[in-house]
Amino acid sequence: MGKGNWSKRTQAVHGGTRRSGYGEMSEALFLTQGFAYPSAEAAEARFRQSGPDEFIYARYGNPTVAMLEDRIAALEGAEAAFATASGMAAVNGALTAMLKAGDRVVAARALFGSCLYILEDILPRFGVEVAFVDGTDLDQWRAAVTPGTAAVFFETVSNPTLEVIDAAAVADIAHAAGARVIVDNVFATPVFSRAIEQGADLVVYSATKHIDGQGRCLGGLILGREADIRGPVETYMKHTGGAMSPFNAWVMLKGLETLELRVRAQAAAARAIAEALVPHPRLSRLIYPGLPGDPGYPQFPEGGTVLSIEVEGGQDAAFGVLNALEIWKISNNLGDAKSIATHPATTTHQRLSADRQAALGITPGLLRLSVGLEEPADLIADLRGALDML
Ligand SMILES: *Cc1c(COP(=O)(O)O)cnc(C)c1O
Repeated sequence: MGKGNWSKRTQAVHGGTRRSGYGEMSEALFLTQGFAYPSAEAAEARFRQSGPDEFIYARYGNPTVAMLEDRIAALEGAEAAFATASGMAAVNGALTAMLKAGDRVVAARALFGSCLYILEDILPRFGVEVAFVDGTDLDQWRAAVTPGTAAVFFETVSNPTLEVIDAAAVADIAHAAGARVIVDNVFATPVFSRAIEQGADLVVYSATKHIDGQGRCLGGLILGREADIRGPVETYMKHTGGAMSPFNAWVMLKGLETLELRVRAQAAAARAIAEALVPHPRLSRLIYPGLPGDPGYPQFPEGGTVLSIEVEGGQDAAFGVLNALEIWKISNNLGDAKSIATHPATTTHQRLSADRQAALGITPGLLRLSVGLEEPADLIADLRGALDML
């Protein structure tokens, strides 16, 4: 059975492994910036054209980082990957490597704050025109993606209101206009991702989230076709310095081994919590794409590891819930083994005006809940207890 036929779970454990002469079982951590060449001629040859197992400098590539890139590419069904210092280095790299002054980009409006900053503040500064649409409205995409549009960008599942975009339909609209499809796939996770088959040209992850999954390291990944990744993406990344540290790559590699087990357990717990909380007299809204009836269900029935709730009584009530929780931590990561509750309006999305928050559904009572690996019954009891105290 060839490696290409391995299932995701097998790839997650063995994909991309490079063993040194010692035959180590666990992936080696090559904590080195540089590589010594056997001769001056060999150095010259490697700078001219380096082979897949030949490295020059860790900003360009490193054996531990290459193992992570090959493993995640195998999982995602992509030809190649480049590992970056953080999720934002990946988003910035994917966009900036592909765009130039005069290009037009169409993006969904509901975006992670830092993604919005790149699209709204940085790209226009360099002459890229950016238009925003409601990502769930295909008519708006059709109207905005004019012929010659260079790229479309969206989060497949948006943060924090968990709107699920019909990625295949948007990709069809984009490709018909000649635009590249760049997706931020964090909430879908590599476990539930169908991004490549849905037509994404570049898929971006914050590995900080589920891939590490234990809240230790920052990291990001850009995946796509060999020609794009080893061409413009790698060239841009290696000269601008957003490379992933080999240590972080090693942590992420070990994270990939357990990714599927963790994400499936966290998604099952998220579903149990969502089912236990609807209906609840203190909640005016519960968003979880895994519940039949949620607008995101047809696209994302697996639901993912995050749900959002809206507490009756606005910010005071939301803060009351946060401060009463005992197991859930008040923080802003997601995909962690530890369950996390976030108040987007005053933290992750604080920068947005009240009007823009309202337009995105980020109400004062909204809480984002990232479900970890604790016993679901304990998480439910903790939430119920906090809601009962209102
Ligand atoms: C966290 C996150 C990012 C940024 O990732 P970092 O690793 O924190 O830089 C980008 N997009 C989404 C959807 C995220 O959740």
